[in-house]
Amino acid sequence: MDYARRAVELGLDEIGFSDHSPMPRDDFDDWRMRDSQLDEYVAKVRLAQREFPQLKIRLALEVDYLPGHEDWIRKLAARQPWDYFIGSVHYVSDSWDIDNPAKLSEWKKRDAFAVWQAYFERLTQAVESGLFDIIGHADLPKKFGFRPAQDCTPLYEKFLHAVAETGCAIELNTAGLRKDCQEIYPSRELLEIAFRKNVPITFGSDAHAPAEVGLNFAEAVALARSVGYTETLRFRQRQAEAAWL
Ligand code: FE
Repeated sequence: MDYARRAVELGLDEIGFSDHSPMPRDDFDDWRMRDSQLDEYVAKVRLAQREFPQLKIRLALEVDYLPGHEDWIRKLAARQPWDYFIGSVHYVSDSWDIDNPAKLSEWKKRDAFAVWQAYFERLTQAVESGLFDIIGHADLPKKFGFRPAQDCTPLYEKFLHAVAETGCAIELNTAGLRKDCQEIYPSRELLEIAFRKNVPITFGSDAHAPAEVGLNFAEAVALARSVGYTETLRFRQRQAEAAWL
């Protein structure tokens, strides 16, 4: 409710809720809703829709992609009339979520490029699964600043080729500005390749608190425009609609 109120205060005309989806096993990790909380989540979004009729409020989820979870994700999609699914990779293995500050020591044990390669390989698989409307925070491995010395362009190219083929969008996510990397996800370099391949974009602030709703959107729009973008996508009932930037 507070998030929707903040969106109205800011004069936004649309907001989407995309909480972290449950996993097939509730004890998978400790930073997402449990399966039994899904209905409660939907009810809260529906309540906000009724309380703020002047605001378009979309019902969505940020869904973790792990290989082998495809059927689970398909079943999740059938459980509610979702407006969109953001597909994200946080886990490069079943036990390491690379953006988890509690597991920062894992980064220090590994070669950064090997992690980026594993991440983008999995992200490309997520795209190819065809289960998602939007791909979340595409260059998440930069979060804590562990950047490989090697050129990552081939990883971006392969990933974005799959995105273009599948027809999903990538998000400009301003949360990166609030992390060690101090940069919007994705980087200008990745976004320039996306633009060349006609990959559509969406905007998100990845708000984990009401004050973060719409944060730094002007910077994200400026970045998109400077790369050449003139349109963004919005999703309703898993159908995309273009809007001018
Ligand atoms: Fe995420």
